Amino acid sequence: MKPIILDGTVVSNEMKANLKSRVKLLKQRDVVPCLATILVGDNPASETYVRMKGKACEEIGIKSVRVHLPIELTTNELINSIERLNADPSIHGILLQHPVPEHINERQAFEAINTEKDVDGVTSSGYGQTAFGIGHFPSCTPSAIIKILNYYNIPIKGKHAVVVGRSPILGKPVSALLLNEDATVTTCHSKTENLAEILKMGDIVIGAVGRPEFIQGDWLKKGVIVLDAGYNKGNIGDVDYKSCYGIASAITPVPGGVGPVTIATLLEHTVLSAENL
Ligand code: NAP
Repeated sequence: MKPIILDGTVVSNEMKANLKSRVKLLKQRDVVPCLATILVGDNPASETYVRMKGKACEEIGIKSVRVHLPIELTTNELINSIERLNADPSIHGILLQHPVPEHINERQAFEAINTEKDVDGVTSSGYGQTAFGIGHFPSCTPSAIIKILNYYNIPIKGKHAVVVGRSPILGKPVSALLLNEDATVTTCHSKTENLAEILKMGDIVIGAVGRPEFIQGDWLKKGVIVLDAGYNKGNIGDVDYKSCYGIASAITPVPGGVGPVTIATLLEHTVLSAENL
């Protein structure tokens, strides 16, 4: 049987249509939601991501301010820039495009973002709030994964979710969100033994590994729901789509799966931040 394709473009289009009307309402109150994106250096992939996010903002009427900083910047100088944006009442969300150049302390820079403007969900306090189920802005990709499951009415409660990856912006927060939704969660990582055996137990499998086509169909249980958060060079996910296609009952494609919903979630968080003023 063919799996249901969990189409992220459909989900994100619906989200964006809803956001457009919320932005219109805000404008009636003379509030224009504004996202500041900070790019340090000239990494071409990061430049593309920042451009894509700026375009997505424009599409729904969010203002986007691009702060492009030189590669030789120090951590303190970057923190000063972030603090200026924190203090600016016209900015509702701050996104520091990562990875930043190696000489910069990325964690310190993330922590400088005011939690109320942390629409990308990168601060440790934002993560703590997510884990407690009280935060407004969970990391965007984890939040996008839950939105896709909800959109397609896929039950989470009581299911065994296996997450492959434990990064602070993806694997850990998506595990926390799934747990908050009453899933039984196993989080795997590079030191996990018997990964294939653990994956076989998953009703829901999340690929968040950063390795192209890593998760194989014969590691999975028949009828599993597969969400591939991976985005590797050449538009390739972390899941081997071909071998998983015949096993899964539902699967996200790459591109066009988790990615577009991640961007729509960033927009949603920025609008929510403006509404919360
Ligand atoms: P990351 O920081 O490199 O983390 C990768 C995780 O995978 C780590 O926890 C690592 O374990 C684990 N891992 C690596 N090799 C493994 C193996 N052989 N077996 C089991 N686990 C293994 O990456 P990330 O930032 O979380 O990103 C993961 C993927 O999501 C990437 O493809 C990235 O491009 C993508 N991503 C997509 C979006 C989107 O919008 N769709 C957004 C963010 C990220 P250790 O902790 O033990 O090292």
